[in-house]
This record gives sequence, C-alpha cells and structure tokens, in this order.
Amino acid sequence: MKAAWDWHLPVETGSQQQEIVEFACDLGFDTLIVRDPSEVMARRGAELGVRIVAIVYARPSDAFAGSHPECLQRLLPAEDEIARAGHEGTPANFQLLSHRWFSIVQDGATLCFEHEASRSFLKERVSRALEIADGVAFDGFGFRNHYACFCDRCTDVRTSMAAGQPEAHEPDLLARMSETSLVAVSDVLYEHAKAIQRDAVVTNHVWPPFYPNEYYGNRLRLDFCTQTISWFYPPHWSLERVEFETAEMKRLEDVKRNTFVPFIGLYSDPYLVRSPDRVRAEFEVAARYADGHVVLCNLETPRHHPEIAAVVKDALGT
Ligand SMILES: [Zn+2]
Repeated sequence: MKAAWDWHLPVETGSQQQEIVEFACDLGFDTLIVRDPSEVMARRGAELGVRIVAIVYARPSDAFAGSHPECLQRLLPAEDEIARAGHEGTPANFQLLSHRWFSIVQDGATLCFEHEASRSFLKERVSRALEIADGVAFDGFGFRNHYACFCDRCTDVRTSMAAGQPEAHEPDLLARMSETSLVAVSDVLYEHAKAIQRDAVVTNHVWPPFYPNEYYGNRLRLDFCTQTISWFYPPHWSLERVEFETAEMKRLEDVKRNTFVPFIGLYSDPYLVRSPDRVRAEFEVAARYADGHVVLCNLETPRHHPEIAAVVKDALGT
C-alpha cells in the first residue's frame, strides 16, 4: 500500500474531490485515505486505480455520547482536572511552544471499546463508510490517558482478572487489560468489514500512543498497520532514530495479524516542514524495510512544496 492520508486539502466541491484523487495518483499513491469519501472520489479513484479509504474515528457522535454516557472512556478525576487546566491556562499554540506533542490527556470524548454498544456504533460507521469507500482506516483507537479506561465495565473486568491472578502486579494487569481491549476491537471491526466486502482494505494509524507498549501494533487484526517512523513536530527525529523505529517495527511484524507500513507525518507550515533531502532520506528508509509500503500524511505538503512533490514522485517510482 502506497497511501496518502489527508484531511487538509479542500474537498468541498466536486472538482476539488476529483483533483485530490488525481493529485494522489500523479504523485504515485495507489490509496487515498480521507475523512468523508464522496461518490465523485470513488468514481475517479476507480478510473485511476486509486483505492479510496474512509477514516473511521473512535470518537462518539454527540447523539451517541448523550444516550450512552457509560460507553465513553472514563479518566481518573485528577486526569479530568489536568485536561481542564490544560485548556484554561494555556495559549492556543501551547503544543508548539511547549513541545508537548502527546498531551497528558487527549481532548474530547472517546469510546470505551469494551461495551457492546460502542462496538455496534463503530460497526455501523464501518458499514456506512463501505457503502462508498474501498476500505476503512481506524484513527484514534487508543486511550485518552494513553494507558487505560476507568469506566465501571473496565474496572469490573480488571477486578475479575485480579481475582484469578492474585500474584499479578496492578500496573501489569492494567496494561494487559488495556492492550487486550485494543486488540479485541480490531478483531471485531476487521471481521465486520470483511463480512461486508471481502476485498475491503482495513488499515489504521496507531494513535494515540499506548504507553505500556508502544509497539503493540503488530497484534492488531488489519491488512495494513501504519506506524509512525517520522513525526510531524520538531525536534525531528534523527535519521538514525527513523531507521531504528522502522527496523524495530519490521522486526516485530506478525504477518498473520497485519503488514507493517511506515507512516511519515509531515506538515507544510514553515516551522514544521522538513527539507526535501530529509524527506527523501525518510522514504529511502521506508523502502529499505517495508517492501514498498508507505503512508504520507498529508497532501497539503507536496501541494505547497513542489520540490517535496518531486521527491515523493521519485520515491514512489512515478
Ligand atoms: Zn471502559
């Protein structure tokens, strides 16, 4: 899979929807991952041989959040306070100023994956996406606090686990239960997508990071598991680190569960964009370890930086 992951280029009009597919194709991508694929995108994608994949988020709709408050991830009271304080006492560009790319607590309601109603809600999203798209890409499937949910159900599950393993340490139980939950929901949604459309592409981006085990992506049931090898924000990882992360994820890859795909995050803002040479080197690392599989997020960057577009085309062999 050579995928462009984008929610940045405009897609309001039919011609814009057509253009984004054509641009992805022109750069050499065979897959375009976007928020709300349209009929226009699907049609143009079919003509050009570009798969159109819909992003499926782990966030509830307002209606679902209102009617199923028990199905949302619950934080510790102190973590709620941290989230609130982070909003009230910081400037809008706090992330940039503080270099705090991974919030202590992620904003916004997120589903707890242990509830049948949450899974049904997500299955419905997958069903709707596949009415138009060739596949689905899961985003935001993680924990707001990066390690666990404290809703009544998750707490009950852990209590039962602890009763059967009195010698287990609490942080270990917490980590194992959380990881199992993330793996289980990927099983459910993968089966659901394939039952609807056997050749649907099922992929993701591993986000937010899961602190007890940042390399758990190899356990998720997917066709392609995209994992970050270079991140959007400075300080940019050294090329040695980019290579280490790529090699490590490839080493851990379990092809019975999914194929590892390197994810390159790249924003176009002057402070965030990386040099064409640097981007070329990242694509070279991806090519060395991942059999031609790669994801670039986003398309605004090559659109606004023709010299980066040239690097991408070259790297993708077009
Ligand atoms: Zn929960």
